[in-house]
Amino acid sequence: MKVVVDIEKCTGHARCNVAAPAFYELDSDGYNVIRERDVTSGDESAAREGALACPERAITIIE
Ligand code: SF4
Repeated sequence: MKVVVDIEKCTGHARCNVAAPAFYELDSDGYNVIRERDVTSGDESAAREGALACPERAITIIE
């Protein structure tokens, strides 16, 4: 499983980070710093919760 973030869609709401702070890091302006990241089994719930929290649908989970 991996996460892909479309930075063109990311508008810096930071909701991914609020939902899963240990997984979704933000830059100093509140934008997601992840572009593509493999997800270990222990991080799957956090990755999904953060993706669901994104109002821009900028985060895609690839199984
Ligand atoms: S919630 Fe979505 S729009 Fe907001 S910072 Fe995270 S990826 Fe970007």
